[in-house]
Amino acid sequence: MNQAIERVARALQRAERILIITGAGLSADSGLPTYRGLGGLYNGKTAEGLPIEEALSGPMLRRDPALCWKYLAELGKACLSAQPNAGHQAIADLQRIKPACWVLTQNIDSYHRRAGSPAERLIEIHGELEPLYCQSCGAQSDELTAHLQRPLPPKCARCGGVLRPPVVLFEEMLPEQAIDQLYAELRKGFDVVLSVGTTASFPYIVEPLLRTRAAGGFTAEINPSRTEFSQAVDVHLQGRALDILPQLLGHIRGDKSLQ
Ligand SMILES: [Zn+2]
Repeated sequence: MNQAIERVARALQRAERILIITGAGLSADSGLPTYRGLGGLYNGKTAEGLPIEEALSGPMLRRDPALCWKYLAELGKACLSAQPNAGHQAIADLQRIKPACWVLTQNIDSYHRRAGSPAERLIEIHGELEPLYCQSCGAQSDELTAHLQRPLPPKCARCGGVLRPPVVLFEEMLPEQAIDQLYAELRKGFDVVLSVGTTASFPYIVEPLLRTRAAGGFTAEINPSRTEFSQAVDVHLQGRALDILPQLLGHIRGDKSLQ
């Protein structure tokens, strides 16, 4: 295991352009429940007998905002009650050492930002929970915490319209700007792609790994269990991101001081 960690550390150290892809496993180390997209907080159906993918969908937010918000609020409370962990911190530290290190995350908890990842090198492909904005007039509200204590759905202070988070609900499009940014960076190529705590096989997760591998770059994965990527990457580091990422950083920093 140590040798494998050293191998990944050396690759990261030599690399200029790095992409770190993070998924629910990283947030699970903060105590958040693992979820697939937005829905995996729940297995199966909601109390209303709906699949969670339907309750947390764009059409449901329009048809029955209170019902959709009931589940958005649970996500919001879970995210607000936990903290970024040592894994998020190590990634932000690596971005400080490596000015061309990007983060692509499926997580909506904003923990990368809170840990210090720079906004200009962070692609939140599923959006985030804050700030809420009004679907009628566009006014923003930074008061997610306060709104979660009040009757749902939260309403706009200016016009009374229903507020929503800038998150990608089921049946909604991915944010165009995030996709454009990702593919613009992909075209420039990456020396190393490191996948952390993700098992989702969305094309925008798989493609950077496959493209980088095909172009002769180095790919690695950190996950407690083997995933469908494990065969496709150069190194699979089995374990929690919370434990392994700080070790990787330790090697990179240690090696730097020897130079
Ligand atoms: Zn409004």
